[in-house]
Amino acid sequence: MTQVTRVTEHGGGVWSIPVPIPDNPLGHTLVHLLDTDRGPVLIDTGWDDPTAWDTLTAGLAACGASVSDVHGVLVTHHHPDHHGLSGRVREASGAWIAMHAADAQVVRRTREADPSRWLDYLQEKLAAAGAPEEHLAPLRAARASGRTDVPGQRAALPDREIVPGELLDLPGRRLRALWTPGHTPGHVCLHLEEAHPVLERRQAAEGDTGRGRLFSGDHLLPEISPHIGLYEDPDDTIVTDPLGDYLDSLERVAALAPAEVLPAHQYAFTDAPGRVRALLRHHEERLSGLLALLTTPLTPWRLAEAMEWNRPWEQIPYGSRTIAVSEAEAHLRRLVKLGRAEAVPGSDPVTYQAV
Ligand SMILES: [Zn+2]
Ligand SMILES: [Zn+2]
Repeated sequence: MTQVTRVTEHGGGVWSIPVPIPDNPLGHTLVHLLDTDRGPVLIDTGWDDPTAWDTLTAGLAACGASVSDVHGVLVTHHHPDHHGLSGRVREASGAWIAMHAADAQVVRRTREADPSRWLDYLQEKLAAAGAPEEHLAPLRAARASGRTDVPGQRAALPDREIVPGELLDLPGRRLRALWTPGHTPGHVCLHLEEAHPVLERRQAAEGDTGRGRLFSGDHLLPEISPHIGLYEDPDDTIVTDPLGDYLDSLERVAALAPAEVLPAHQYAFTDAPGRVRALLRHHEERLSGLLALLTTPLTPWRLAEAMEWNRPWEQIPYGSRTIAVSEAEAHLRRLVKLGRAEAVPGSDPVTYQAV
């Protein structure tokens, strides 16, 4: 059966292909195709799933290309809705796969992870964050049964590094990577330093100074604030500050002021600086809200329970609670770093309070 995929032509040799994410409210990953003198280059590939693969290949056909023509794959970050199909694309085409070193390191570590060690790490971390017994028990059971499933263990190892600041080696195109850590440690946005085929002429007439187009991955989305959790690494001894990284990365994208943003979810939009301002405001309000909660000392788990999510805590499924606690911890890290909250001495599990 031939599948028809509705692609969007953005002009100037750029298309987007909406590749479905199974059972996910986000709906799609927008895989971008960039024409080069050596054939199409993909920015992200979509979730590793048969329907997604069929949609991607049909989408390439709708752009007048074929998967076997793909010259390279640029991955904005290692998450499975972006990097999932990269390995399959490489098998079908011989394309290279490029990623920032920090995310390549996550892929390598996950592939080599010993599942029992990973489960121990997760369990210890959650216990330290104040997770209740009912949340820890399934991890212990999985550990005891020897069920060996670390998510992302089959993700493809990239064969090229995306070096931020440098022009990427794409014949006939000017694309430069901007390191935007926060959502993941090695997230990159890709700036197409070529005049926008439509907007720049119009904006020039109106005195606007927007430049080029930005493939923003999950860093800058029109209506969603991306998840910012801790960078999970069993071997890491550095106290990272992912939310601080993210806010800094937002400022850098605003300073770039691209004429248009092509994100990996939802839809293309303009006014990147305006969107950045809204996100900075959102995070400032969220941090103030958390400080109000922290007038009583709370564990990260209790804080996560008290925070506002897209549904009541009781309705948040198991896996998402783990992610929510990681987000609460990232916010606590930020508040501690800013000197606006502190750990209560002697508390176990550790509680935090506003200063
Ligand atoms: Zn992501
Ligand atoms: Zn995503």
